[in-house]
Amino acid sequence: MRAILFFILLMVVYQAVKVVFRSAMSVYHGGEPRTPRIPGEEMVQDPQCRTYVVKGRAVARRIAGRTTYFCSAGCADAYERDHRSS
Ligand SMILES: [Zn+2]
Repeated sequence: MRAILFFILLMVVYQAVKVVFRSAMSVYHGGEPRTPRIPGEEMVQDPQCRTYVVKGRAVARRIAGRTTYFCSAGCADAYERDHRSS
């Protein structure tokens, strides 16, 4: 008799594990993109040296009323010198 109770308990545990495992698998295979897009990953072009830089790491400068992104402060300074509204 105890063997049957143990077997039933085993089946209940097995079903519970199966449900948890299936829901975990559906989350894994779900609509989630493999590489979630981070806002800082957007690429912007440095107008000074034409290099593409990640927006999150770019040097942002407001020149002539527009925010422009550069690969470095050096490029930003050079561009600002050339494009300063006189
Ligand atoms: Zn640059």
